[in-house]
Amino acid sequence: MIGSFTFENLPCRVVFGSGTLNAAKAEIERLGGKRALVLTTPQQEAQGAKLGAALGPLYAGIFAGATMHTPVEVTEQALAAMKACEADCVVSLGGGSTTGLGKALALRTGVNQLCIPTTYAGSEMTPILGETRDGLKTTVRDNAVLPETVIYDVDLTLSLPAGLAATSGINAIAHAVEALYARDNNPVISLMAEEGIRALANALRVIAANSDDRGARTEALYGAWLCGVCLGTVGMALHHKLCHTLGGTFGLPHAETHTIVLPHALAYNAPAVPEAMTRIARAIGAADAAQGLYDLARQLNAKLALRDVGMPESGIDKAADLAVTNAYWNPRPLERNAIRDLIARAWSGEAPL
Ligand code: NAD
Repeated sequence: MIGSFTFENLPCRVVFGSGTLNAAKAEIERLGGKRALVLTTPQQEAQGAKLGAALGPLYAGIFAGATMHTPVEVTEQALAAMKACEADCVVSLGGGSTTGLGKALALRTGVNQLCIPTTYAGSEMTPILGETRDGLKTTVRDNAVLPETVIYDVDLTLSLPAGLAATSGINAIAHAVEALYARDNNPVISLMAEEGIRALANALRVIAANSDDRGARTEALYGAWLCGVCLGTVGMALHHKLCHTLGGTFGLPHAETHTIVLPHALAYNAPAVPEAMTRIARAIGAADAAQGLYDLARQLNAKLALRDVGMPESGIDKAADLAVTNAYWNPRPLERNAIRDLIARAWSGEAPL
């Protein structure tokens, strides 16, 4: 039954396809940009320089220092680079780390962003920015950080190794999973969430067998876009809170942590969200949603245990304490002992209960 709801469509222009990177120059012009600063990580600098060359007179320069968790020191260096080359807009080419830097610059200067994602993280669709100062991560939600234009070019995702595609893809699925039981959920987002999960689960299985499959890479990117919209539009719950806490406290890798925790967080919430469980199970083609997501991660050869990505066993209690400290909304009330059990299972890599 459809109840009352509020739906806010976030303003963002999306260009999707293969070879769409060629539209970058026209899209910058459309935004009124005259001098674009290209942002990348050090690993993607050559790709950024190539894009810069294709921008011709619109290319103001490149800053290839984007890194995980958007440290403010890096943002300050990028601000200096922006000033030095008199840039009036930014082009972020890369994963969530690069997108984060573009958002941090937009927050401080108001510049327009053209975002060209090369992973499935989904940050390009959200008005959310996580920044770190002195090792402490803070999150802001502000429409000023939402990119004006996003170009999805499947060609750029072909170089994402199958292992990274798997964890980045399950990171995206996690956004849609929590959207299905969000407090401010609505029927439109649920449609996008279920379709995003279906597209990604299907595509990731194909990519694991043949990482050059263009059809699957296209379907995965399409799914990632849908899941990104979910993350940007409705609120998240226990799963995202846990991953944020674990990542920040123990320096764990973002996408792998999401992949490991998701089946366990979902199993915890299962009794409170039967309709979401049915929709997720249907989308991944499994009898049970939580077990199905665990099996999917295993099929994709992803790591299944937090102990294998650097979390110490002594951290289980600390993580459980932190997870229940700052109260936040979750469909099932936060019970410290049950949450400790779920973290312990995720730590050792057992199946979800
Ligand atoms: P990432 O951006 O850190 O990229 C990981 C590595 O993969 C980098 O070295 C990058 O250069 C490389 N890479 C990216 N695309 C590639 C490709 N196509 N081929 C080969 N290598 C490629 O990883 P991520 O998982 O995309 O992003 C994680 C970060 O994004 C985290 O800091 C997370 O907090 C943030 N994030 C933010 C939001 C938000 O809404 N604010 C949403 C999701 C993620």
